[in-house]
Amino acid sequence: MRGEERARRIFSTAREEKRSYVLEYEVKEILKGYDIDVTKEVVCKTADEAAQVAKNIGFPIVLKIVSTEVVHKSDSGGVKLGIKSEEELKTEFDKMLALYNGKFSADALKGISVQEMVSGEEVIIGVLKDSQFGHMMMVGMGGVFVEVFKDVAYRLAPITEAEAMEMLKELKGFRLLDGYRGRKPANVKSLCETLSRVSTALEELPEIKEMDLNPVFVNDKRAVIADGRIFI
Ligand code: ADP
Ligand code: MG
Repeated sequence: MRGEERARRIFSTAREEKRSYVLEYEVKEILKGYDIDVTKEVVCKTADEAAQVAKNIGFPIVLKIVSTEVVHKSDSGGVKLGIKSEEELKTEFDKMLALYNGKFSADALKGISVQEMVSGEEVIIGVLKDSQFGHMMMVGMGGVFVEVFKDVAYRLAPITEAEAMEMLKELKGFRLLDGYRGRKPANVKSLCETLSRVSTALEELPEIKEMDLNPVFVNDKRAVIADGRIFI
């Protein structure tokens, strides 16, 4: 299914459930429809199901809470990184379920996402829609670069891959992607592709008011979305 059709279905589900935001796994479903690389993941209901999925994905595994009532997952203990074995996975899965079961309604809790663990430099991609100018895209290096140094670059959508590259070169933290201190250079081309494909999605989906892809991991092989939120 193409991205636009996926998005329309997911947006209408969100509206039916009276929410204006789209959950991480739904955002990733939409982005896949635009050929954007996202972490492999399956939302599971039981520890046994999770163990099966983890076998296919391969360890280490990440677990994340999937609830319509949880927007910032790690704030409430809803992200567990670096799970190395089936035994650990089952224990952590049941712990996370128990943590959220009492707190939220059963309707809100959709399960736990069993997810591929990725690595690389953390980049953030943001989008904000201005009623007059349309979608403004932002990219920055993650962590302290954004929080402390406000090291980000902006462009109005639509943008091409070449324009995405210009944005990246404006960042002081660009050196981190460019083979800093003997590290392998990151696959900057795939990050530029990701940015221009996000731009294509924005053109087709004017109902997007805000989008937050944070983080996107970029390593020598790929740029892959590890978390995402959309507001409609
Ligand atoms: P939150 O809803 O709190 O923003 P995230 O999904 O962004 O939750 O997870 C919190 C942090 O965990 C991320 O900023 C990132 O550093 C790390 N993380 C999340 N998903 C993955 C993953 N699939 N692989 C590796 N690290 C991850
Ligand atoms: Mg995040």
